[in-house]
Amino acid sequence: MTNTSYRPNSKILMEQAGTLIPGGVNSPARAFGAVGGTPIVISRGEGAYLFDADGNRYIDYVLSWGPMILGHSHPAVVEALQKTVRDGTSFGAPTQNENKLAELVIEAVPSVEMVRLVNSGTEATMSAIRLARGYTERRRIIKFSGNYHGHVDSLLVAAGSAAATFSVPNSPGVTSGTAADTLILPYNNPQAVTDTFDCFGDEIAAVIVEPVAGNMGCVVGTLDFLGTLRRETEKQGTVLIFDEVMSGFRVAYGGAQQRFGITPDLTTLGKVIGGGLPVGAYGGKREIMRYVLPAGKVFQAGTLSGNPLATAAGIATLEVLRNTNPYAQLEQKIQRLADGLLNAVNKYNIPAVVNHCGSMMTLFFKSSPEISAIIDWDTAAKCNTALFAKYFWSLANNGVYMPCSQFEAFFLSTVHTDVMIDETIDVAEQALSQF
Ligand SMILES: *Cc1c(COP(=O)(O)O)cnc(C)c1O
Repeated sequence: MTNTSYRPNSKILMEQAGTLIPGGVNSPARAFGAVGGTPIVISRGEGAYLFDADGNRYIDYVLSWGPMILGHSHPAVVEALQKTVRDGTSFGAPTQNENKLAELVIEAVPSVEMVRLVNSGTEATMSAIRLARGYTERRRIIKFSGNYHGHVDSLLVAAGSAAATFSVPNSPGVTSGTAADTLILPYNNPQAVTDTFDCFGDEIAAVIVEPVAGNMGCVVGTLDFLGTLRRETEKQGTVLIFDEVMSGFRVAYGGAQQRFGITPDLTTLGKVIGGGLPVGAYGGKREIMRYVLPAGKVFQAGTLSGNPLATAAGIATLEVLRNTNPYAQLEQKIQRLADGLLNAVNKYNIPAVVNHCGSMMTLFFKSSPEISAIIDWDTAAKCNTALFAKYFWSLANNGVYMPCSQFEAFFLSTVHTDVMIDETIDVAEQALSQF
């Protein structure tokens, strides 16, 4: 096992990055803002392992924040990319692989009858909101506190981990006019949903929700909550959008909607469907998707959308998942990790709770024993983030790479073994024994 508390190459590279790139990173979650210290610069990934710029090895529970469900450099994905790259990387014209990836998504995700490929989760949610407004000819949207839908202006309010870490629940640059049409409700609170629909029902274009939230830590939407959303939106002609950028192909092959048996009108996807390359998608009922240009009038476009490399990596990933159906096994492994980490914490009388679903989980350190469960942003935000930071570094210094915030989910891949999980639990227990 690697054991180092000093990473000279990471330090040099991050100092240099700080002069070149704002904050030294190209996405804020990488900056270690919530745990302090210098980000670990990664040089390569192999299966369930990461190697940093100083040659240290880590068991990786971040997995690029979700996409790498088959682990790093999976042979099927590498082979698909190598084969594709020789024939050119982008044409700005239709290609066969776009049909293939679309077919795989439509076959898997219950709500999706037609799908449009984009380049990120942010583009997917931005486009889905525009489409919902164009389709309903209404203005208002509902989002839930602690849910993150990418950095779309109108959705960048009460947006969970990244915003919480940097204390900018409303980002500068998002005008009050843009945010004014966004109604914020508490997660997992069916009463707040019915009350709001009683007031504003026929003005609401869309409800967007993470059916399994991953961006305030893992918080699972209850059937009562999600069922209420489905009922109220149906009654009022509002478009229900499940943001499954994280949960899609992760909590089940068909996402949370398959797992819970609740079908939204539109679904946004990303992360896993790109197999580690930049891809997003939005899809849903044919009747709504027909409004997208050039079939309809709602504008949305992309120079690199559906490009050969991204679609090749996505197809390879989804085909492995479809053919091997690893979901029951992933669930067993996450249970093993959850039980082990919680036992270790209990041994030292540290108040904590684990939420998990499919291959996502979060260990929450509770700041007070009277919080019995983490069900929404209010309960999540009260967690002991200082203790989490200490835990994070103890594990990182002993070869385990956890997400660098209390408000992010841990992820498992198909190549994480029970041996690695048990090693992780041992490392965690040793860390806690020194707290
Ligand atoms: C990651 C994420 C997004 C944003 O996707 P990007 O590819 O980072 O733009 C949107 N919604 C959810 C639920 C996510 O987890």
